[in-house]
Amino acid sequence: MSPGTPRQLYDAYVFDLDGTVLLGEALLPTVAETIARLRDLGRRTLFLTNNSTSSHIEYARALTALGVPTAPADVVNSTLVLIDHLKREMPAARLMVVGEPPLAGALAAAGFTLVADPRRTEALVVSFDRTFDYAKLQAAFDAVRAGARFFATNNDRYRPTPGGGQPDAAALIAAIEACTGVRCEAVVGKPSPLTGRYVLARVDAAPERCLLVGDRLETDIRMALDAGMRGALALTGATSRAAADVSPIRPTYVIDRLRDLLPG
Ligand SMILES: [Mg+2]
Repeated sequence: MSPGTPRQLYDAYVFDLDGTVLLGEALLPTVAETIARLRDLGRRTLFLTNNSTSSHIEYARALTALGVPTAPADVVNSTLVLIDHLKREMPAARLMVVGEPPLAGALAAAGFTLVADPRRTEALVVSFDRTFDYAKLQAAFDAVRAGARFFATNNDRYRPTPGGGQPDAAALIAAIEACTGVRCEAVVGKPSPLTGRYVLARVDAAPERCLLVGDRLETDIRMALDAGMRGALALTGATSRAAADVSPIRPTYVIDRLRDLLPG
């Protein structure tokens, strides 16, 4: 039997952004009214994205401008999870960043030293980077061969854009792994348990009282179920009902629009 829509409310709702709340730069239908209603009912709402090219502050501002009033503390991106992980693993480390300026800026602001010299690099950090080239690949190769640890924000193959897509961090991680023979030690974004734990701590709810809503089975729903949360697949983005029906990943619910989260 295929999963239906929720018949109960949860204490906390974690929303993926692209394909669930947003399509391109616009809100998807019924999003604003549903989130307002959940908040009126006293439910915690949090937004979660693997994207590292905008800060959580910029996302909060954009959502607010679109009619979903949002504080920076209500947005988590893969940059925040990476910073949290690196602070535990190697605080104040010297980092080489293959990524765009918002990621580098956030790491520097969090107390890490950014370096370009492979011999001074203690860890390599890889993310979406539209300026990736042979020189960056060479520097990353040299750093890893000299013993630097290797982390990444996310492992998404591509980022959907209106009419197509852009190669995402998976392509850059694969390039560096291919030439060094060294595997990335941690990809912190969805579906990593690192993100699951980070989000649960942020919403301060029991896992089974937390519903994650997302449009990708292999990242959103897999992470939710692995973390003990419940997962609602939104058919508003990357996944069709036909694809969901044959996937081994079984969401708790399947919804056609965000409003379906409201019982009755
Ligand atoms: Mg999505």
